[in-house]
Amino acid sequence: MPSVYIKTYGCQMNERDSEAVAAQLAAKGYTIAASEAVADVILLNTCSVRDMAEQKAIGKMQNIAADVRRNRPDVVLGFLGCMAQSRGRQLIDQLPDVDLVLGTQKFHRAAEYLDELLAGRREKIIDTESESGSEATIKEHLLLGRRDGAAGPVSAFVSIMQGCNQHCTFCIVPFTRGEERSRAIPDIVAECRQLAENGVKEITLLGQIVTSYGRREIPAREGRSGFVQLLAAVHEIEGLERIRFTSPHPKGYGDDLVAAYGELPKLCESAHLPAQSGSDRMLKAMHRGYTREKYLGLIGKLRRVQPGIGITTDIIVGFPGETEEDFDLTLSLAREAQFDNAYVFKYSPRQDTPAAAMPGQAPRGLKEERHARLLEEINAIGKRRYQERVGQTMQILVEGPSKRGPRWTGRTRCNKIVLFDGSERHRGRLMDVRIERAGLFTLYGDPAILNPD
Ligand code: SF4
Repeated sequence: MPSVYIKTYGCQMNERDSEAVAAQLAAKGYTIAASEAVADVILLNTCSVRDMAEQKAIGKMQNIAADVRRNRPDVVLGFLGCMAQSRGRQLIDQLPDVDLVLGTQKFHRAAEYLDELLAGRREKIIDTESESGSEATIKEHLLLGRRDGAAGPVSAFVSIMQGCNQHCTFCIVPFTRGEERSRAIPDIVAECRQLAENGVKEITLLGQIVTSYGRREIPAREGRSGFVQLLAAVHEIEGLERIRFTSPHPKGYGDDLVAAYGELPKLCESAHLPAQSGSDRMLKAMHRGYTREKYLGLIGKLRRVQPGIGITTDIIVGFPGETEEDFDLTLSLAREAQFDNAYVFKYSPRQDTPAAAMPGQAPRGLKEERHARLLEEINAIGKRRYQERVGQTMQILVEGPSKRGPRWTGRTRCNKIVLFDGSERHRGRLMDVRIERAGLFTLYGDPAILNPD
């Protein structure tokens, strides 16, 4: 059977889509190649959120095509995901060596289309049509198909919905992922249960705007939104120890969701709350749907329910029209919110989004300068907040050996990485560690005293 190599760009949703495609192909008998150099099929799962991500994927495909077509002319090359969706046929016009362009509602067709291409029945396939029910097709997991007996991952991602209706003026996601469509609760619960039965202890529920989950399909019950009903249903699964979700929208955090942090012990006390800006003027221009006061009020509510909650965010600097005063408001928001960490992005105009045509596009130098200033502030706050954890006892879920060194890695409930001297016997365990010291966005722990064995 042929072998396939998938390279993924972008967010956790893309990682999850790639895993589902890999699992779908593995179930059909494909082997998963360790590198593109030995693969019969090379797929790039792409991101459109920033121009740089698109250029990287195109550059990568140009290099692969130049190499592969010279030495291995039968290899099938394909683009999947967001850029495939937004550019479609253009990609083949630009890169005629590409055989397959598969949009965001068509991941489940990968095996069928690859069969046709490999058998020579078709020369090129481009499919970026919308498909009803496609939100329920990202459900296969590689770990469930394993037959090698090796320990599987202890945490897994589960896709609960696709699309977004918020239409933030800078964002291409509503164009690449379409309208919000949610899977049914029993379907998601069945997938989570199967993962738990196979050793998964932590599940992260995924979607472009998870707080909108089930908004149209699931009526509120006893004051609980569809999303909180889903959290409660997943919480019932035996063997599952931890639940997380990403990405939420601050305006979707109703009181029921805030209360869930106090009512559902498996729901980890961590929240990724994309702020994007600290200036009401900019928030309005971005079409975010909340004010600075509302945003900070939400953080206050969450910290009242769970004082130790870890809060991270996304911020854009250099949005069109952003003045020094607006930027100062973002700096002061970061200080007031006391984020544990933040992903800071330089605004990148995306084709067909309203912000790309707004006046006052910031020059590159200004974006870089604001990016560096905000990052310095975020790092200083993060360093202090991590330092505050030294001396505390924290529960970690042990994930495996660290990729960067001899230590092992665990994750706290508030979503901080802890490195410690571990071994295979620790894998998958929930255990308490005492935090000995803190680095920048990493904690160092000692489990020995608290976990004698
Ligand atoms: S809520 Fe998120 S995914 Fe939706 S449009 Fe805004 S930034 Fe994009």
